Amino acid sequence: MDIEQFRKAGHQAIDRICDFNYSVEKMDVVSSVEPGYLRKALPSEPPEQGEDFSKIADDYQQLIVPGLTQWQHPSFFAYFPAACTFEGVLGDLYASSVTNPGFNWSSSPACTELEAIMTDWAAKLLGLDKAFLNSNETGGGVVQTSASDSVLTATVAARSLYSKLHPDVSQDKLLFYTTSQTHSVGAKAALILGIKVRSLEVNLSDNFGLRGETLRNALEEDIRAGLHPFIIVATIGTTSSGAIDHLNEICVVAQEYSLWMHVDAAWAGVTLSCPENREICHLSFVNRYVQSFCVNFHKWGLVNFDASILWVRNREYLTDALDVTPPFLRTAQSDAGTVIDYRNWHLGLGRRFRSLKFWFVLRSYGVEGFRQHIRKGIELNKLFSSWVSSSTLVELATSPSFGLTVLRMKAPKHPTASQDFLTRKLFECLSARKDIMVTQTVLQGIFCIRFAFGAERTEERHIVAAFNLLCDEARKVNEEFKIRNAEHDKVITVKSLRN
Ligand SMILES: *Cc1c(COP(=O)(O)O)cnc(C)c1O
Repeated sequence: MDIEQFRKAGHQAIDRICDFNYSVEKMDVVSSVEPGYLRKALPSEPPEQGEDFSKIADDYQQLIVPGLTQWQHPSFFAYFPAACTFEGVLGDLYASSVTNPGFNWSSSPACTELEAIMTDWAAKLLGLDKAFLNSNETGGGVVQTSASDSVLTATVAARSLYSKLHPDVSQDKLLFYTTSQTHSVGAKAALILGIKVRSLEVNLSDNFGLRGETLRNALEEDIRAGLHPFIIVATIGTTSSGAIDHLNEICVVAQEYSLWMHVDAAWAGVTLSCPENREICHLSFVNRYVQSFCVNFHKWGLVNFDASILWVRNREYLTDALDVTPPFLRTAQSDAGTVIDYRNWHLGLGRRFRSLKFWFVLRSYGVEGFRQHIRKGIELNKLFSSWVSSSTLVELATSPSFGLTVLRMKAPKHPTASQDFLTRKLFECLSARKDIMVTQTVLQGIFCIRFAFGAERTEERHIVAAFNLLCDEARKVNEEFKIRNAEHDKVITVKSLRN
């Protein structure tokens, strides 16, 4: 492809992306293809002769788009939203056009410098303490691929620090704490590093947030057993239910026992952009005690995947653990210690130029626009969860959290089937539909259904439709099992709502 062919194909691509955006709402959320559909449609080998790009572009439309789950659909409520803004698309496009592995400052000064500034901007957006700013030259932020990479990187740093301070402790005595609600990223990091994990119990009565007392008891027990706990991964906004660990209690205990605290705020961290959410997220404790903190902007935070930021209070712990400098990577600027070499802040060497999309998004939206987007997701969730809590068909399984509602079927008064069984049936019915997508979870043995809001395109009318559809399906489940609780929920009309 030459430059002029690229110009033509590029214009066509942008046109088609716009058309896609106009039509995505009319598409099914869930793809209808069968497993293996693509292998049947594609040749088993690459073509011997190069092909015309217009044919390749058409095949993308015909073969790939039908096999996509439409995460950008306004009725996609599964998992968590996956940010996709035009600013982010353009950031990726420009970044890709100057592909640049950016591992050292001198391998591309703009890549390193923009990342250092953008992670500072993001820290200020969220109200993080200046200890986490690159500009203070002690701590700092780095863009990682995912929250999984962030927790793994933090654990490598924590282990390295612990081993330096306790050279006689053997690796098999090290212990890594998570909770039963921590995302699997915690267990995975421990698995990769070959470290023992203990998952601490959390309860519905605490809204699934870890208490200081539980941590203290575990520490005492494990230390008595000759183990060496060195890190805890706490969460602000768990994936299952949006739970917030009681950082106000556990930070103090963690400090007393010199535990490294990593806070995984992958999903809910962006809510800190709105000052009204900072207290319930225990931001002041994050600012005072936490060693490393991670937020994914690629979920609710308007920056397209991948855009996970890891902030550390002390960058030396990262670089001490990860700096391996062969002669060919040495540079005058690094030797002088005047620049950041991001290769020493993550696991790989080369890295994508991801800060560009942060820059585009944060400038185009501004702090106000960003906050407005977050507040809209929270508002829609409040509305939806209020309908659930006054419903005769379904009920909240735990308190709604920011943009997440977790629900189940109401317990039948004259049981012909268990509550759990009915919720599973409801989930089966919802999953059989193509016009909505939700995911399941299990909380303390209770089967639940999650509705996650915060996608940019989701408006009030979509959650109205989602609630009515939920009631329709729940009603059918009750009818099938001859359950009569009370009068069936009335259909909500958009007109009946506040504007
Ligand atoms: C989504 C999520 C993760 C995993 O994020 P990746 O960036 O995909 O690794 C981890 N923790 C929480 C709380 C999450 O919501």
